[in-house]
Amino acid sequence: MAAEQIYDNHGRPISYLRIAVTDRCNLRCFYCMPEEGIKYLPRKELLTYEELERLVKILVNMGVSKVRITGGEPFVRQDLMKFLWKLRAIDGLKDIAITTNGVLTKPYITELRELGVSSINLSLDTIDRDQFKLITRRDEFDAVMETFDLIVEHGIPLKVNAVIMDGKNTKDILPMTALTQHYPVSIRFIEEMPFNGEGAKYQRLTWTFTKIIDTIKEKYPNLTKIDDGDNSTSYNYHIPGFKGDVGVIAAFSRTFCGSCNRIRLTAQGTLKTCLYDDGVLDIKSLIRQGADDKALKAAFLSAFNRRPKDGFEAEQNRQNQNPISESMSTIGG
Ligand code: SAM
Ligand code: SF4
Repeated sequence: MAAEQIYDNHGRPISYLRIAVTDRCNLRCFYCMPEEGIKYLPRKELLTYEELERLVKILVNMGVSKVRITGGEPFVRQDLMKFLWKLRAIDGLKDIAITTNGVLTKPYITELRELGVSSINLSLDTIDRDQFKLITRRDEFDAVMETFDLIVEHGIPLKVNAVIMDGKNTKDILPMTALTQHYPVSIRFIEEMPFNGEGAKYQRLTWTFTKIIDTIKEKYPNLTKIDDGDNSTSYNYHIPGFKGDVGVIAAFSRTFCGSCNRIRLTAQGTLKTCLYDDGVLDIKSLIRQGADDKALKAAFLSAFNRRPKDGFEAEQNRQNQNPISESMSTIGG
């Protein structure tokens, strides 16, 4: 059971942990990874499942109640389901969620429902097969759509993540919004961030969350704002009579930092207290030097007490890679 709820230096609860279990991926989405020349981490550089389980237990005791598994593509790491069952057994951990590209996910959907996964985020930037191949540099559209159908069939809450990119998939905004007429899913359009593994290429964004919403409103003037829920990063909307809803995530504009309850463990075992920082604690080294749980908790506490107030401050504080040059596949989104 969660013994206490830890708050950061700005009074925000730390209750949501995202874990990138691998940096490897079977797609090459161009906004996330370069096509070639990727240096994957050697396996021994990844936190083991046992190390991760130990860290999750410590963090749950500090108030974390939700864990999202991400990557890279989580399903390329062996024995992922065994790890998820270990997490399921942790007292006080209420929600286990997963973010996946859907290519290898289909065989695990039934087990994910048995596990009681609280939601699946499926990354799908377009519903046009050719465009999918251009964006992901792989021809896996059918596999992803089969996963989509099966998740819906199993009644698992499904959020579709679509990164909106000028000149690439802005034409998909309306057809993807239309999906919510018949499917009880949440389609979330995400502002593109500069984490493509090749360095920041832009300072300004054309397709901001406001422009995306305006585009939807033009076609659906009755688009209605709905409740976002606590600590949500998306602004959510509903079209009357439709089964699902749509949302926008201002990931580049960073409007949601004031209520951010998230921390991240990267594939290489560093703690991030903001998506835009470059890692504030090398927790893997601490563990491997033999730190006990008390010392690990103290290290977490110290990092939570130095949390930047928003993503702009975190970006300014970066020590190593400035401007941003890492790939989202090491961070997990
Ligand atoms: N491979 C899994 C997937 O694609 O769902 C999980 C990892 S992926 C890094 C997690 C999320 O980050 C995906 O929804 C992806 O669209 C998003 N993402 C990756 N690079 C991004 C970028 N440059 N800007 C915005 N979102 C990005
Ligand atoms: Fe892989 Fe996900 Fe990155 Fe696409 S967004 S390359 S699927 S990690």
